[in-house]
Amino acid sequence: MSFTLAIVGRPNVGKSTLFNRLVGKKLALVDDQPGVTRDLREGAARLADLRFNVIDTAGLEDVTDDSLQGRMRRLTERAVDMADICLFVIDARAGVTAADRIFADILRKRADHVILAANKAEGFAGDAGALDAYSLGLGEPIRLSAEHGEGMNELYDELRPLA
Ligand code: GDP
Ligand code: MG
Repeated sequence: MSFTLAIVGRPNVGKSTLFNRLVGKKLALVDDQPGVTRDLREGAARLADLRFNVIDTAGLEDVTDDSLQGRMRRLTERAVDMADICLFVIDARAGVTAADRIFADILRKRADHVILAANKAEGFAGDAGALDAYSLGLGEPIRLSAEHGEGMNELYDELRPLA
């Protein structure tokens, strides 16, 4: 295990789908209902020749655009503290939400290294959201489709120098 990557972000952006793809097993729950998976899950990830530890975060409560529930915040902070690198995931189809901005603030203050990812970016539906993500001030987003396995080479390019 060369490093630990925490996948963070509000519910329903596709964190567990990405976790499952990296770990290659259905360890994390994926659900169509926002906020259904709850817990911190760790797994051994493989991405081409990279081997690392990955943490999936989930929150009991749904996150609205106006509030970020304490449990979700605490879980995220725990994951950030356990991790060497945070992969901050937003939903490119939904665009940047108020909750995303709260997570961005937490990460800016607390995380050593943040990679921004705009997920659900398959096709063209995610174009606007991916552009919007620049406004988070966390650099250029990589465009992912966790569900379809797109953008994994860009994720690799981001992780490789840090391994
Ligand atoms: P989490 O709450 O952030 O862990 O999100 P999940 O991984 O549970 O995914 C939430 C929903 O988004 C599920 O219905 C997934 O199938 C869907 N989803 C995840 N990744 C993608 C993607 O790349 N593209 C699309 N279109 N949907 C996705
Ligand atoms: Mg999840």
